[in-house]
Amino acid sequence: MSENPYVTHNARILEVKDLTSREKLFTLRFLDPEVEANFNFKPGQFVIVDIRGFGEFPISICSSPTRRGYLQLCIRKAGRMTKFIHKMKEGDIIGIRGPYGNGFPMEKMEGSNLILVAGG
Ligand SMILES: Cc1cc2nc3c(=O)[nH]c(=O)nc-3n(C[C@H](O)[C@H](O)[C@H](O)COP(=O)(O)OP(=O)(O)OC[C@H]3O[C@@H](n4cnc5c(N)ncnc54)[C@H](O)[C@@H]3O)c2cc1C
Repeated sequence: MSENPYVTHNARILEVKDLTSREKLFTLRFLDPEVEANFNFKPGQFVIVDIRGFGEFPISICSSPTRRGYLQLCIRKAGRMTKFIHKMKEGDIIGIRGPYGNGFPMEKMEGSNLILVAGG
């Protein structure tokens, strides 16, 4: 967990990758190196993306917690906010707070065969 999940921190969009006509992969890094170093999460947790003065929305973290220095969010263009972020470019700044949710119980899964089923 990060130190205080209720505080929004600025993050820079490092890369925007088109995955499909509706989904983009956003790679982000917190501006504050201390925030970056203390931002820990479990697979399955989500963050709130805060586009200052416009609105906010929840998105699951899709990068690995063991890969340090960046955070990845795969965002489908659905409504008002997600259409807005799809227009944002590398170098733009957004707010991130979290992580929230329980995440997956990785300790219980260790050593087992897994079947992953995704929905949405
Ligand atoms: C815990 C959690 C994790 C999530 N993780 C992800 C993730 O990893 N990736 C991801 O892409 N999404 C994820 N979502 C979903 C994402 O949060 C929503 O797609 C997003 O909040 C939509 O916000 P919006 O402002 O773009 O859409 P809104 O404008 O709020 O619209 C929401 C929905 O209503 C529909 N809608 C809007 N206006 C109208 C209208 N006038 N008439 C009919 N329908 C309309 C839109 O098409 C859309 O489907 C997650 C949600 C939760 C709760």
